[in-house]
Amino acid sequence: MIEMHIEEPAKRIPVYDEADICVLGGSCTGVFAAVRAARLGARVVLVEKQNAFGGVATSGLVNIWHSLYDTTFTKQIIAGLTWETIERLARVDAVRAEEKSHSAGYALNTEELKIELDRLVLESGVKPYLHTAFAAPYVQDGELKGVIVENKSGRGAILARQFVDATGDGDLCARLELAHRVSPQFQPSTACAKISGWGEGGGMPEDDPREGGLKGLNLNEARLKHREAYDLPEGFGWGRYVPGTKGIYMYAGTRVYHADSADGEQLTHAEIEGRRQVRAVMDLIRDHGPDNRIALVALPSYIGTRETRHVEARHRLKGSEVLLGTAFDDAIASGSYRVDIHHQDKPGLTFKYLDGTEVYVRPGYPHAVGRWRPDTGDSPTYYQIPYRSLLPQGPYPNLIMAGRMIDVDDEAFGGVRVMVNMNQTGEAAGVAAYLALHQDRPLDTVDPSELRRTLREGGSIML
Ligand SMILES: Cc1cc2nc3c(=O)[nH]c(=O)nc-3n(C[C@H](O)[C@H](O)[C@H](O)COP(=O)(O)OP(=O)(O)OC[C@H]3O[C@@H](n4cnc5c(N)ncnc54)[C@H](O)[C@@H]3O)c2cc1C
Repeated sequence: MIEMHIEEPAKRIPVYDEADICVLGGSCTGVFAAVRAARLGARVVLVEKQNAFGGVATSGLVNIWHSLYDTTFTKQIIAGLTWETIERLARVDAVRAEEKSHSAGYALNTEELKIELDRLVLESGVKPYLHTAFAAPYVQDGELKGVIVENKSGRGAILARQFVDATGDGDLCARLELAHRVSPQFQPSTACAKISGWGEGGGMPEDDPREGGLKGLNLNEARLKHREAYDLPEGFGWGRYVPGTKGIYMYAGTRVYHADSADGEQLTHAEIEGRRQVRAVMDLIRDHGPDNRIALVALPSYIGTRETRHVEARHRLKGSEVLLGTAFDDAIASGSYRVDIHHQDKPGLTFKYLDGTEVYVRPGYPHAVGRWRPDTGDSPTYYQIPYRSLLPQGPYPNLIMAGRMIDVDDEAFGGVRVMVNMNQTGEAAGVAAYLALHQDRPLDTVDPSELRRTLREGGSIML
């Protein structure tokens, strides 16, 4: 970036809308926040910069939701809008259950997810704004009164009493100059791709992401062997057949290291580099696995960003609290997905399980299996996310966050970041915003037991 500045002239802009609650960012996290608040009776505006809702799942092509059960797969711990959406997708043959797996719970046709999310939004009376990007906060006399957005109509304002930042990157919190950090080990980005003609049959063997079903080609071994010829960084690749299609495979196997998606120039580089790597993988398969008559069907609308900013909140959730299953009085979400750290400083990833097992996976090499703690014979079967980790520090009592920017350390992030968990933070943020509005109180004084009761009444499981 050039170190130069200009003064942007002040100007009058129209007010596009006025609402009780404004939700920024429309992945399932944001949609679920908006829908839960609207179902309780709030007038909600939902702002999304893409042409569709769903975030990484739809615009980024990532088509796996993880288990809704605890680690024993006997006790359901997640329901709410995640379960409702799965049921809705099942009616149009757009979901395939992969039960009792640590790798996946449900494979989704995320094109259908776009349509179901449209329906959910409209049925609940949420006012949607697509193709609309949040640009700046509107603060008057120290109070957050609105947001300034940009869309085809130009620049305008949305005024509201409560705000949910569900932009993934914490754009609203960052522009409010709330304390935040980007971890030096932030997980790298991946451009996914949908590819037709990929082998035969469906899915990968349980917990064995090496094969991916290609005919006559072990892709991970081939990638390692021909890495330099195709200029493919070492990383990790996995994928899933898209439910309801014939042989269309969603492959997540590129790796753009050291590119922070919350930085405009680095994001631009990541997009172009991610697509180059998709092409390189295609070339490698064509050259070394010619029985696969592959064709590129879809690239993501934007590169899959695993991690950027985390905003400092009332509580930073620690890896130890996740891995030891710490119970919180103000728990608003439960999860069982293992800690899954895609490394920034070395190839591959590390899984840490609640039972104490640790596995380092480097494609093309044997898994390194060990333990992060001794085997005590007694392990938690799920973990929790506290409400406090959604409440940013700072002077804005009407602002809450939901999604991957919540306050978690590197290790905790590895587990809580998956969508079935982030979805719950959205639902909690929406319900909390409604309660704060309804009771005319700051978000940090919302009674956690009332929040949990209202979530439960709306279909969530609260443990
Ligand atoms: C390649 C990859 C593979 C993954 N694999 C899995 C997996 O298999 N299963 C799983 O559950 N999780 C997976 N994850 C993690 C998971 O997808 C994310 O952690 C999760 O989607 C984060 O949700 P979010 O709502 O916080 O962010 P996002 O899904 O990124 O949503 C943010 C939303 O806000 C919108 N937005 C952003 N900025 C603005 C703005 N300024 N104005 C308006 N709108 C804005 C975006 O367009 C987007 O819709 C993966 C992630 C990646 C990148």
